[in-house]
Amino acid sequence: MSVAERAARERKIATAEAVVGACRKCPIGSTRTHAVYGEGDPCAALLVVGEGPGENEDKAGRPFIGRAGQLLDKMLLAIDLPRESVFIANTVKCRPTLDDGVRLRNRPPTPDEMANCRPYLDEQLDILRPRAILALGAPAAKSFLGPKFSITKQRGQWFEGPAGIPVLATFHPAYVLRMTGGELEATKRLVWEDLKAVRVRLDAPTPEPPPPEVEQASLFDL
Ligand code: URA
Repeated sequence: MSVAERAARERKIATAEAVVGACRKCPIGSTRTHAVYGEGDPCAALLVVGEGPGENEDKAGRPFIGRAGQLLDKMLLAIDLPRESVFIANTVKCRPTLDDGVRLRNRPPTPDEMANCRPYLDEQLDILRPRAILALGAPAAKSFLGPKFSITKQRGQWFEGPAGIPVLATFHPAYVLRMTGGELEATKRLVWEDLKAVRVRLDAPTPEPPPPEVEQASLFDL
C-alpha cells in the first residue's frame, strides 16, 4: 500500500474517531469514560470485531486490553499476526453498563445501541476495506450475518459479509476464558481451526482486479 494511501486512511480514521468521541446517540454515550473507536494498522488485511468495550477498555479508550484482549493477542500471534498488524474494533464503541446500585457492570449491547453504532462500523469497513473480518462471538457475528446466525453451528465457515467482505466467526476470547477442563480443551481446538482458516484466507493471493474494458472502436480505429 502506498504511503499516500496509508496517510489518507490515517486522516479518515482520526476524523471518524473524533466524531465517535463526541457521539451521544445512546445513554451509554454519557456513562462511558472513553469511547473506544478501535486501533491497529489502517492498511490491515484483517479486521477483528468484538462485542463492545469492557471496564478496562472504557478506562483506557482502547479495545481488547483486559484478560480477553491478552488472549486475543495470543490467538492472533499463533497465526503470525501481531496485534499491531490487524485492526481491532467493536460493534459498539461505548461500554454498555448496568448500574446494580453498587457498581457499573458490563452487559451486552442492546439492539438499539448496536443500530446507533452501526454507521461507525460501516464507516470503518469503508476506510479499512479489509480482506477479511474475524467476528468474535455471537453478537458480532450476528451483526454481520443476521440474527439467525448460530455461533456453535456456523463458526469457522466463511460467509459473504458487508460490501462482499468475507466474514468468519469464532468464539469470543472471554467465552473461552470461562471454560475449564475438557470443555476448555475442546473449545481451544475449535478456535485454533478457525484461526488457521483465517491464516489460509490471508495467505491466498489477492484476486486480480478485472482488466479495464477496452472500447471496440479504439481497437479497430483505422
Ligand atoms: N470484549 C469485547 O468484545 N471488546 C473489547 O474491546 C473488550 C472485551
